[in-house]
Amino acid sequence: MMSYKLGSVLPLEEDSLHEFKGHRNLAVEELPRWAFIPGTNRRSRTPVSRALNGFLNTGGGGTVYLGVTDEGVVKGLYLNQDQIDHVRVSLADLMSRYCPRVSRSRYKVAFCPVEGTRYARSHLNDSGYSSDSVEPTSSPPSKQTKAHVLRTSTYCWCDRAALALYNQGVQLPIYVIEIRILPFVPNPSAHEDTLQLAPVYQNEEGTSFLRKTASNKSMKYQEIAEFTRLQARNHFEKVLRRQRSMLVMYQNLYTSLLLSGPNIS
Ligand SMILES: [Zn+2]
Repeated sequence: MMSYKLGSVLPLEEDSLHEFKGHRNLAVEELPRWAFIPGTNRRSRTPVSRALNGFLNTGGGGTVYLGVTDEGVVKGLYLNQDQIDHVRVSLADLMSRYCPRVSRSRYKVAFCPVEGTRYARSHLNDSGYSSDSVEPTSSPPSKQTKAHVLRTSTYCWCDRAALALYNQGVQLPIYVIEIRILPFVPNPSAHEDTLQLAPVYQNEEGTSFLRKTASNKSMKYQEIAEFTRLQARNHFEKVLRRQRSMLVMYQNLYTSLLLSGPNIS
């Protein structure tokens, strides 16, 4: 977790491991209507989901920073406690919609208070990383029992309540939300020659993305197959190199044993 100062520029750039987002529209259904460019299927804004999906599919992971502009400027997001719950529930919901479903061990979320704002110091109770443990269906957040409204661009009750407070002049705490996708960890008890590939996930749009330097590229079926072939080839080339060097070692050993044979007895 980094520390964030309002208006400062992060010492990072968008690359293969980092993505900045000024909004918190996680799933595609959360994009506001105005984000769709009329007469096209293009959008002026893309859901956070695509970046998360791209980070999963490289196997290497990465972090999305919500509340940071494309230029890396810390803008932050106003959030009350219910909205923090909303983001957690919404993320768990999104990860459950990927195919295959994303395991809890692959992602973490942290709400990082932004310095230079009124609440930055007093509101540190939810700042640490935690594996997201909120089930959207089975266990509602502890402080309230009303379910959050997900998969829609309309305001949830928690957003309307926050907006009402804001309009009354109540200042809400400001956060940068870090969503971290952890790298794929192969099974350590498998034999080292076993091919263990990171799974390729489809996001809630039914599309697989691959993280490039600073963008998320959608993959066609052939590209996924090619990507898998490449990973398999890299793996087995390593196995072959290791086996070949073992073979050379044994051949040398054998030869030296033959040469030294008469001296042994
Ligand atoms: Zn909500």
